[in-house]
Amino acid sequence: MKEIRYSRHYIDSNDINEVIKVLKSDYLTQGPTVNKFEKKISQFCGSKYAVTANSATSALHIACLAIGLKKNDRVWTSPNTFVASANCALYAGCKVHLIDIDLLTCNISLSLLKKKLVDAKKKLQLPKVLITVHFAGNVDNQKEIWALSKKYNFKIIEDASHSLGSSFQKNRVGNCKWSHITVFSFHPVKTITTIEGGCAMTNSKILSQKMNLYKNHGIEKKYHKFKYKNSSPLYYEQQELGYNYRLSDVSAALGISQLLKIDLFVKKRNLIAKNYINKLKYLPIEFQKIHHKTISSYHLIIIKLKTEKIRNKLFNFLDKKGIKLNIHYIPLFMHPFHKFKKLKNSLEHYNRSLSLPAYYSLTTKKQNFIISNIKRFFNEK
Ligand SMILES: *Cc1c(COP(=O)(O)O)cnc(C)c1O
Repeated sequence: MKEIRYSRHYIDSNDINEVIKVLKSDYLTQGPTVNKFEKKISQFCGSKYAVTANSATSALHIACLAIGLKKNDRVWTSPNTFVASANCALYAGCKVHLIDIDLLTCNISLSLLKKKLVDAKKKLQLPKVLITVHFAGNVDNQKEIWALSKKYNFKIIEDASHSLGSSFQKNRVGNCKWSHITVFSFHPVKTITTIEGGCAMTNSKILSQKMNLYKNHGIEKKYHKFKYKNSSPLYYEQQELGYNYRLSDVSAALGISQLLKIDLFVKKRNLIAKNYINKLKYLPIEFQKIHHKTISSYHLIIIKLKTEKIRNKLFNFLDKKGIKLNIHYIPLFMHPFHKFKKLKNSLEHYNRSLSLPAYYSLTTKKQNFIISNIKRFFNEK
């Protein structure tokens, strides 16, 4: 049997054909396919605008710039995330602070957030932006955080890299009902893929225009927006320090084709999660707590073991059987680059958890192989 990893992409012949069509067309980049993909993903999520980028990291960066983050502004985020959730703010020169997670939901703890806001208000150190992360697809307290953002006057970027296809109370992540900008990733392990790619959703025309400017070298091509008067059709002007963060038309073609399958992808991941939970719930294993009003994309299926020692033993046991599990995440404060102080819950989560394999093409046979090996581990122990 081939190695089983925690995630993998799913590409079918329709995807391949759509990519080939664009490869044979007049535009490989900056053509009509990116616009079409942006329309489709906006429709899917229920947002007014979508701005694609060549990665979620780039999309997060232009989101920070469009919101107006400047040097030394305060940005808060979760420690239990991929490094890009903090790096995007650091690129803009901001100071990043971390709020510890709730051990059950694995998202930012609402009570700790409230406490930190009260404290920060007293010290005149309120954040300008909070970047929330719907860990593993679990969107749960965004509505409450939105209310806090009104009370304390900060903006919200959702790092929804895990949660394309998730919803809360029938509100699809990406409709930006409870945030200013929501960012998705199309990395191959995520819900859908464009190989590399990302997208920033928003309902604000101004934010979408600014993000488009920043992703394209800061260059403006529309006559009515020029700062210098010039009616030549050859003229364009650079108005900001921007970047080349564009998604290619080839990638967008793959994105459009993948988006057609998203309901299947999410449904399958939910079935896989249900199967793990049903068959493993009798063992000393905890699963992530998903809010009853949430439909999770189940980007990750997290289990928590009683102790770090058991976790490590289980990891090694499965590794020998060719089941290669992962840990999500090494908390941001554990990286030598950062100087954050350690936070208790994120550290405990890191020490005791593992991500089980979950992806569209994971067969029942393979999943049963994983399940029976986990059971065997606990019987032999
Ligand atoms: C995958 C991921 C990213 C980065 O996505 P890229 O598209 O690879 O840049 C950022 N944040 C989180 C939480 C992620 O899981």
